[in-house]
Amino acid sequence: AALAPRRPIRELPDALVSQIAAGEVVERPASVVRELVDNALDAGATQVTVRLTGGGLRAIVVEDDGGGIPSPQLALAVKRHATSKIASLSELEHVRSMGFRGEALAAIASVAELCIASRALEAAHAHRLDARTGELTAAARAVGTTVEVRELFFNTPARRKFLKSEGTEFAHALDAVRRHALARPDVSFSVWHDGKLAAQWRAAGAGLLPEDNPLTQRMREVLGIDFIAASRGVQAAAGPLRIDGRAGNPEAARSRADVQYLYVNGRFVRDRLVAHAVRSAYEDQLHGSRQPAYVLFLDIAPELVDVNVHPTKIEVRFRDSRAVHQAVRQALVQALALTRASDEVDVPR
Ligand code: ADP
Ligand code: MG
Repeated sequence: AALAPRRPIRELPDALVSQIAAGEVVERPASVVRELVDNALDAGATQVTVRLTGGGLRAIVVEDDGGGIPSPQLALAVKRHATSKIASLSELEHVRSMGFRGEALAAIASVAELCIASRALEAAHAHRLDARTGELTAAARAVGTTVEVRELFFNTPARRKFLKSEGTEFAHALDAVRRHALARPDVSFSVWHDGKLAAQWRAAGAGLLPEDNPLTQRMREVLGIDFIAASRGVQAAAGPLRIDGRAGNPEAARSRADVQYLYVNGRFVRDRLVAHAVRSAYEDQLHGSRQPAYVLFLDIAPELVDVNVHPTKIEVRFRDSRAVHQAVRQALVQALALTRASDEVDVPR
């Protein structure tokens, strides 16, 4: 056959393996932001600051007050398949942290310049690692971690060409933080762009209205009072599954699917099955292609859901997907019926 001459099989160099893997994980600045904020939350941060320059193309800096990384482990943090979050298959099956693949920092370091400055709880001072040179130097900061990512895709120009304008990339990055913020009202987030404060959500506590729960308060801050006013609380339990959140009134459905936030065990995911269950609960109350607005938190025993389906962990697989579909649909039907029965009363502020 007229095939190209056969070339020998060879193992790819490490750096190339990382760049190939990075293609799956790091699509644009928003992917970097998502991974770094995941790490901050896994480290127990109560305050996360995200600073972007030039839509995140020039620089992405994420600062947290979490537990930090002991300096002897800094070099490991940027190594592929190195993680502190799981140590065995059974831990993977019960994983509760956002991360577990030990991939993100290595992937980012292979397509950008990456430095980590971190101070662990017990450390006398901080250390800073330059991932490219491997140089480790003393640094000054409080307990916690700062990850700096500069010149994203400087060495992968093909990927860089797929990026949109700085404004669009920033909007995606901000949405990545918004997704985290909705799920974690106990954490303060601030987002800066080109030196200006773009968004700030403070941890719940002071100013909590008595009828509010922290999730509702955070939703009001992140999505606006209109979403709260035109939605209903959803709350249900079915066997091992708990459902919490809010669903928009049918009249408040939107032309775009831009307010659809689904979380499974605190992780933002996309799931066609759940999306279908939600839609089916609205039945004929949605006109044409109108999209319901919702924020839903599903909590389920970790062993009943597989989170290791997709490199970015944006998809999950439920062990009993029929039961999940049914429970979500039922919870929504109930919440929406409530809307019709009590249109006049107690719209939370
Ligand atoms: P994963 O999150 O899947 O473990 P990462 O590449 O994102 O993989 O991070 C590698 C390791 O570096 C983590 O397991 C964690 O121990 C450490 N790490 C990364 N970011 C932080 C942070 N902000 N605070 C504390 N430790 C961190
Ligand atoms: Mg991670």
